[in-house]
Amino acid sequence: MSHHPDTELLRLYASGAIDTAHGAAIASHLDSCPHCRNKVTQFESEAAEQMIAVSNAEQKSSKELELVFAHMLDDITTLDADYSKPRCVSPAKSESMVRSLSSLR
Ligand SMILES: [Zn+2]
Repeated sequence: MSHHPDTELLRLYASGAIDTAHGAAIASHLDSCPHCRNKVTQFESEAAEQMIAVSNAEQKSSKELELVFAHMLDDITTLDADYSKPRCVSPAKSESMVRSLSSLR
């Protein structure tokens, strides 16, 4: 290969998404061309950084999901309490409960 491979091909090569024929041609070009080798190295580190960023984002979103589930459980518990109150607690009692609850805040 006398000319440099296309930058997009180098990027594909760095990410491992290139087909075997192009990959072999680029690999043999890289053997004799430090310029393109530098490009591929840079693409590889960029791809690694992106993967780290993506995995960080995934970890964050799974934590947020846990929070959502925790709030959902809270909501369910609160709803159950609200539905059961009129049946087993007299209005006067629930009023004093509300007062003691608000004094806690
Ligand atoms: Zn080159």
